[in-house]
Amino acid sequence: MALTEYKRKRSFDQTPEPGPKVKPSGRQLKFVVQKHAATSLHYDFRLEMEGVLKSWAVPKGPSLNPDDKRLAMMVEDHPYDYREFEGIIPEGNYGAGTVIVWDEGEYGSMDHENEATKAQEKILLSQLYKGDLKFVLHGKKLKGAFALVKMKGRGENAWLLIKKKDKWATDKDVTEKNKSVKSGKTLEQLSNDKQAKKWISNKKATRSSKKSLVKKTPKPVLLTDRKTKSVKKKSSR
Ligand code: MN
Repeated sequence: MALTEYKRKRSFDQTPEPGPKVKPSGRQLKFVVQKHAATSLHYDFRLEMEGVLKSWAVPKGPSLNPDDKRLAMMVEDHPYDYREFEGIIPEGNYGAGTVIVWDEGEYGSMDHENEATKAQEKILLSQLYKGDLKFVLHGKKLKGAFALVKMKGRGENAWLLIKKKDKWATDKDVTEKNKSVKSGKTLEQLSNDKQAKKWISNKKATRSSKKSLVKKTPKPVLLTDRKTKSVKKKSSR
């Protein structure tokens, strides 16, 4: 349950991702799906349980078509605050690449949504250990009943994410909705933003070095100003 593995893989002085904090229990359970352009593109499907996010990496992303069975590789628990994370994990760090919040919302245990959060969480946890999890998502893109079923004889971590038949089931490809529900940006737009920021900071650096050059070459028009400044500087030294 601890976030040891999550913590072990990351240097929090080098990545903007949240630290390994556990959430106090109480409110409605939350889920998030993050689209992550790492070494290979995938969707990180995360369900809150016991104050952390149980996590699966889904290479093809979720589907609203009950005929699709999407491979979901279980990965380490992530901190509850991770559901807010959207940004760029810098080069050289674990999972380096751009992340957007592709979908988010509340969720509950299938057939038990009227029960208290604690009771639902207990059911979800026992289903998780049995390898047959049934839940209902109330996202902006993903809605209705889903199952996560552990594959037999395929190692420890292979699960399948399957949409249950209900009024939200459709054969329309939900991953075509490719924008963040948080910023409205696509992965590409967000990573381009980073380049823009980088460019600005480079430019600033160039400018300030130019400025210091200018200071060394006095110009008659600014003489009084410059003089005052340099006098001040000298006296402060
Ligand atoms: Mn990921």
